[in-house]
Amino acid sequence: MSNPILEIKDLQVYYHVEAGAVKAVDGISLSLDPGTKLGLVGESGSGKSTMALALMRMHKAPAKIEGGHMVLDGVDLMTLSGDEMRQARLRDLSMIPQGAMNSLHPLMRIQDQIIDGIRDHDPTLTKPELNERVTALLQSVELNPQVARMYPHELSGGMKQRCCLAIAISMHPKLIIADEPTSALDVVIQRQVMETLDRLQEELNLSIILIGHDMGLMAQFVDRLAVMYAGKLMEVGDTRSMFADPLHPYTDLLIQSLPILENKGVFTGIPGITPSLLDVPPGCVFHPRCPQMMDVCKEVVPAYRQVKPGRWAACHLHGVVQ
Ligand code: ATP
Ligand code: SF4
Repeated sequence: MSNPILEIKDLQVYYHVEAGAVKAVDGISLSLDPGTKLGLVGESGSGKSTMALALMRMHKAPAKIEGGHMVLDGVDLMTLSGDEMRQARLRDLSMIPQGAMNSLHPLMRIQDQIIDGIRDHDPTLTKPELNERVTALLQSVELNPQVARMYPHELSGGMKQRCCLAIAISMHPKLIIADEPTSALDVVIQRQVMETLDRLQEELNLSIILIGHDMGLMAQFVDRLAVMYAGKLMEVGDTRSMFADPLHPYTDLLIQSLPILENKGVFTGIPGITPSLLDVPPGCVFHPRCPQMMDVCKEVVPAYRQVKPGRWAACHLHGVVQ
């Protein structure tokens, strides 16, 4: 067994607002093996993007990392200086942020946007060398090299998203965090972009954290799933066995809410609303919405623990390791 490429230990990220601390990431521990894909899922507001930004150390006030460790290939990102972290971005880990295609600079040609990041890391490269790199990167994301001279407004959504992919892989990072990379695209284009990401993952032996709500997309693309709710992990395990036998009622509801043929393509959603993270329910945070709630759930916080080999959950329905 290889060592994990990423180990997150008891990460806590709070937004300090006038009304108190919004505990958006509340004691998350996770690990990711080299060359594997982990899906981070949960409804809107569960803390997924906050965790991604914290991993990149790109979170902004009022967000603050309160505690924990984020160890990437043996290096605790928490211990790096601002300059060291800037160097680590793109080279060791990179992010395709939510709405990435709108993050491209509207007045800069694509080539200059790609070169900007590369030059920050390697100022010795000559112009012809940089142009060669841009051509190769565009080809690797299945874009015509002529796109280099174009501006974002001349490109379709899918093409812009591919440019963001090219930037993300430009320094051969070990880890890519993709925050809903295809949510703004139509289903066909979404699939094509995901297939490109999948191919690059294999070719470059990337580790990927894919963030999203779409359990259908996750089922197709990730090896393992981490289900998040109200800043905490509810369940973690390999995708296939989680779909076949979800341990946590929230995972079960997320899967059931998928528009599948058996329920005639109807998206059912999960009844109830996510709690305010300023004032989470006592006991199990999910208890007000849980169809299997028991008395104990209203008072006692369920421990997050290993329920079966490779399967972790925080739910009173499950006892200790078998
Ligand atoms: P989505 O899927 O909609 O992107 P998410 O799971 O990524 O949601 P986050 O965006 O990380 O969730 O938000 C987690 C919590 O942090 C939410 O309750 C949100 O209201 C809160 N939050 C996010 N940004 C801020 C902010 N700048 N100030 C205060 N609270 C914030
Ligand atoms: Fe439901 Fe109780 Fe499990 Fe929470 S601990 S998910 S309320 S059964």
